[in-house]
Amino acid sequence: MNLLIMGPPGAGKGTQAEVLVKELNITHISTGDMFRAAIKEGTDMGIKAKEYMDKGALVPDEVVVGMVKDRLAKPDCAGGFLLDGFPRTVEQAEALDTTLREMGIKLNGVINIAVPREKLIARLTGRRVCPVCGASYHVLFNKPEVEGKCNSCGGELYQRSDDNDEAVDTRLDVYEDQTQPLVDYYANQGLLLNINGDQEIKKVLEDILADLKK
Ligand code: ADP
Ligand code: AMP
Repeated sequence: MNLLIMGPPGAGKGTQAEVLVKELNITHISTGDMFRAAIKEGTDMGIKAKEYMDKGALVPDEVVVGMVKDRLAKPDCAGGFLLDGFPRTVEQAEALDTTLREMGIKLNGVINIAVPREKLIARLTGRRVCPVCGASYHVLFNKPEVEGKCNSCGGELYQRSDDNDEAVDTRLDVYEDQTQPLVDYYANQGLLLNINGDQEIKKVLEDILADLKK
């Protein structure tokens, strides 16, 4: 199954993706995680991307599109994938359509998680992430079993440098301006699965799995 998961920053894409890819036995592709890995490795792309990310701005389309195209060509995507955080602009969505057409594959669905803006701010500023496996926690809403440590791999949780009040505000504005139009884009293609993300993590997952079965 080839899927996209979209929604504003903090909607719970990464949280749901972590479980969904195991349930569906598909590959998780998070462009945010790929950029954070590039930053850690100190590559030229990582150094360039960090400037945009820290401000809450989008990395230029041509950089992201090339990176995703290369990733989709890897063998582990042949059995299905879940794209998380991509596309974020209409240009990216059109480039993805072209790439998939060239590869002879189709999207089976677009999971769109909706959460009101005022709740997203609290989710993002309280988020803690595992640097080793990328798992996402929250200081109030999704606490790890041992404070500061990842449940799955024991990694030391950290706060992302773009999860501060200023960058969060910009990221939510950028989402509304540039990414929200993709909801109509995919609805017009008959691919959209609308999910209420303002519920318990377990309930959100149940709703997604139920919609995917339809
Ligand atoms: P995204 O990948 O969409 O940016 P995350 O999955 O990282 O979002 O979730 C953002 C924050 O909100 C994390 O701290 C996560 O633990 C928390 N979170 C995710 N889903 C829920 C939920 N349904 N209710 C409350 N908090 C949630
Ligand atoms: P995320 O982990 O999805 O919240 O992404 C973190 C940051 O990475 C974003 O705020 C952007 O700066 C950058 N980024 C991730 N995915 C994309 C994308 N598809 N297009 C442009 N920038 C992106």
